[in-house]
Amino acid sequence: MIEVTGLTKRYGRKTAVDDVGFTVRPGLVTGFLGPNGAGKSTTLRVLLGLDRPDGGTALIDGRRYRDLRHPLRTVGALLDGAGPVPERRGVDHLTWMARSNRIPRRRVREVLELVGLADAAGGRVKGYSLGMRQRLGLAAALLGDPEILVLDEPVNGLDPDGIRRVRQLLRDHAAAGRTVLLSSHLMAEMAGTADHAIVITGGRIVADAPLDDISAGH
Ligand code: ADP
Ligand code: ADP
Repeated sequence: MIEVTGLTKRYGRKTAVDDVGFTVRPGLVTGFLGPNGAGKSTTLRVLLGLDRPDGGTALIDGRRYRDLRHPLRTVGALLDGAGPVPERRGVDHLTWMARSNRIPRRRVREVLELVGLADAAGGRVKGYSLGMRQRLGLAAALLGDPEILVLDEPVNGLDPDGIRRVRQLLRDHAAAGRTVLLSSHLMAEMAGTADHAIVITGGRIVADAPLDDISAGH
C-alpha cells in the first residue's frame, strides 16, 4: 500500500506539491491525473526516494523507499530520465539489475517478452526509439515481480501494440490483488484502464474517487 500524508515540496519559491495526501490500495489500478506541471512527477519522485520532501511523508508499506528491505521486489517504478547508460545493451542492463538484486536470470527473458522487446534487447540503448526505451523501463519495473507498480506516464511514446500491452499488464497486476499507480495528463488514457483516479492541479489534490464518478463530472 502507498500512503502519502501532508506532502509538501518546494523548488525555490515555487510550491510544486502542497499538502498532498492520498492512499493507493491493492487490487485496483489507480490513475494519478493532472495537467503538465501539476505536481505528479514531484510526488512520485519523493515516493521513490529521488527527492526529499519539505513536509509530510510518502510511504510504501509503512516505510520510506530507502528503508524497504527488498526495494525491487516491493515496488517497480518507471520514471522519466531514470534510464540506463546509453552504451549498454538493453538485455545487459536488465541482467545486471537482476544480478545485483538476486533475481533469477530467467526473469530477464520473461519481462522482455511481456513488454514486447525480446527481439530488440540485444541492441544498444542509444539506438532505441522513445517507445523502445519506455518498454525497457517497463521491463525493468517488472523485473522483481513487485507487489506495487508506480509508473510515471507509462504510455508516452508507445505505439498501439505497446499501449495494449501496458494496459493488459496493469489490469493483470491489479486483478492479482496488487497495487498499481500510474500518472497521466490525459483523462482519455485512463478510460478502460484505471478503476480509481486521484486528480491533482497546481500541487493540490482536487478529486479522489472512482474513475466513473470523475469522468461523469467532466
Ligand atoms: P507534472 O509531473 O504533473 O507535470 P511536476 O511535478 O514535474 O509536474 O512539476 C510540478 C511543478 O514543479 C512545476 O511547476 C515544475 O515546473 C516544478 N518543478 C518540478 N521539478 C522542478 C525542479 N527540479 N526545479 C524547479 N522546479 C521544478
Ligand atoms: P536522511 O536524513 O535519513 O539521510 P534524506 O537526506 O534522504 O534522509 O532525507 C532528508 C529528510 O527527508 C529526512 O528528514 C527524511 O526523513 C525525509 N524524507 C525523505 N524521504 C521521505 C519520505 N518519502 N517520506 C517522509 N520523509 C522523507
